[in-house]
Amino acid sequence: MKQDELDEAHRRLAAFLADSSSAAAFTGAGISTECGIPDFRSKDSAWHRHPPMPFEAFLASEDNRILAWERKFAMDDSYAGAKPGRGHRALSRLVSDGLMSGIITQNIDGLHQASGLSAEQVVELHGNGTYATCLACGVRYELEPIRRKFEADGRAPTCLCGGAVKSATIAFGQAMPVEAMRRAQRVAENCDLMLAIGSSLVVYPAAGFPLIAKENGAALVIINRDPTPFDDIADLVLRGDIGAILEPFERANRLN
Ligand code: NAD
Repeated sequence: MKQDELDEAHRRLAAFLADSSSAAAFTGAGISTECGIPDFRSKDSAWHRHPPMPFEAFLASEDNRILAWERKFAMDDSYAGAKPGRGHRALSRLVSDGLMSGIITQNIDGLHQASGLSAEQVVELHGNGTYATCLACGVRYELEPIRRKFEADGRAPTCLCGGAVKSATIAFGQAMPVEAMRRAQRVAENCDLMLAIGSSLVVYPAAGFPLIAKENGAALVIINRDPTPFDDIADLVLRGDIGAILEPFERANRLN
């Protein structure tokens, strides 16, 4: 986007926010790329070299679980120390100023919480990759001790109860988290403005939430570099860099 286009984008987005009394956001991998975490769909993504293991394969054998953990740690190393970007900080500001009621995210990187939002303000549809849980009893494990043991014995981590321990993300083929889905539905139904930010909007059921918001009368604004399947029904499409588009909203809730 050229500077005049960016200025116009800021003005138009500010106008939507000024008209809204309960905005919400739906975020995808694109909001975190400027933090050094690759998205799935861009060319040369490191995810292509370390693809997440589908759930059925993870359950199928210890060899697969070992491979899944190797890939997970390789990806973690590639973006270790990532910090929230301009998009995260702007949304955090909108929430703390009372203009945004909640954020639904497909992301597993925990960067919305790292930008100052509480667990109640963020709905994680695909879980969180910064810790692990036992698939049998649900107990939480921190990654550091798991990694130390994994590197020492080369075995897939298991819980004291005998269950397999897996990163607390929702793998392809794994059931969606019931409570998060319920909360996301509430956020989508009750907002009057939905900002869909940095998502290709093709991964379901997550991608359905911006649609639910639109069907319930909310205005839909899409901020993404590439086209999405919902561009035609959106009230505003801003095709550009998320950080540049949202940066001014870090500092002021309304730009008038
Ligand atoms: P996606 O990879 O399908 O799409 C990301 C979109 O963001 C793309 O359309 C791309 O054009 C856009 N984008 C990337 N950088 C941008 C930028 N700086 N400015 C504007 N647009 C930008 O991501 P998705 O729709 O979130 O779905 C992929 C799935 O992968 C999700 O389910 C998520 O769980 C998982 N994932 C998560 C992370 C993360 O937690 N950061 C990273 C990769 C994948």
